Amino acid sequence: MQAYSRFFAGLAGRPTIQTRHGKQSMWLTRELFSFEPIKDETGKVTHHLLHLGTKKHPLGCLAFTAHRDYLPPASIHLSIHAGRWHVSFNYDDGIAEPSAEETTQWLCSFSAAELSSVTLGLDRGVQIPLAASASDRQNFDFRAIEKKRLTRQEKHKKRWQRRQARRMQGSRRWKKAKQRVAQCQQYAANLRRDFCHQTSHALVADPAYKLYVLEALKVKNMTTSAKGDTEKPGKNVQQKAGLNRAILASGWGQIKVYTQYKALRAGKLCIEVPAHYSSQECSHCGFTHPDNRRSQAAFVCQSCHYTDNADTNAAKVLVKRGVALMLGEGVAKKKVKRARIKQQKVGAECSKPAGAT
Ligand SMILES: [Zn+2]
Repeated sequence: MQAYSRFFAGLAGRPTIQTRHGKQSMWLTRELFSFEPIKDETGKVTHHLLHLGTKKHPLGCLAFTAHRDYLPPASIHLSIHAGRWHVSFNYDDGIAEPSAEETTQWLCSFSAAELSSVTLGLDRGVQIPLAASASDRQNFDFRAIEKKRLTRQEKHKKRWQRRQARRMQGSRRWKKAKQRVAQCQQYAANLRRDFCHQTSHALVADPAYKLYVLEALKVKNMTTSAKGDTEKPGKNVQQKAGLNRAILASGWGQIKVYTQYKALRAGKLCIEVPAHYSSQECSHCGFTHPDNRRSQAAFVCQSCHYTDNADTNAAKVLVKRGVALMLGEGVAKKKVKRARIKQQKVGAECSKPAGAT
């Protein structure tokens, strides 16, 4: 119902039927589940049981370890992805957090110099997923062991993909190979998501900064294929595909989303500024020229001879743009479009006079 009303309101595509093999999820309301803590002889809670279904129609129970204290939620989402079951739920913890408007107003009361000192620019890149504008040049990147594990999983995945291709489609062995491919992909996705969570947490936990500035990247446009069409075939399709993979693997979108919600919770703000030529502009004098960037790493201004690391310089440019945006026109909040499910009144159609258009 919700999916269809969003579709009819023009906010989303037509809902599709989920296949048996892909990611599946289910939304359960309060009357369909209950929690039960399981205690050992000493009275210590060892794990929890989640009973699903009603008394009349029990569906079974799932055992889980609670990593933190919880309250019974109003509804839960149950999902299965790559052969693993997940239960997710949320509830109001009662801790008041300032709204985005309040935080924006508070930050706008700062002077330009004050605001610059509490602003952190974050340059997202392919070589280094995230470079900060701080003086200690803090860069966020995957650890060496993580990179090693990612390449190993990638190798595993390719091997199982080849095996899957050789096996008879739909057979038991084919399904097994498919499952292994999904598991490898899941591992890489989990590792990247963990990196994004840890990075955004580290950023927001730093008490020195109140405003975080990212460049607005259109990831979807940036990762279109270079394939072209039959009349105009593209060039360097393989290289572009590799770059696209690298862009998507750096988790640009996730870092933004996580930083935004974590910042709001902490009474801080994360904004986006236009990204044009941020890598070629001098953060010292504002001179913009392609020659400023001689190599991937070094930035040398052709006008004032200011030198810096290229990513750090770009992050500093973002700080300038962010401060100007906050104190200038301000950050316009995009209005969220929502579809509302309207209850149809019985007989509403009939009450119209006949023949009226
Ligand atoms: Zn300069």
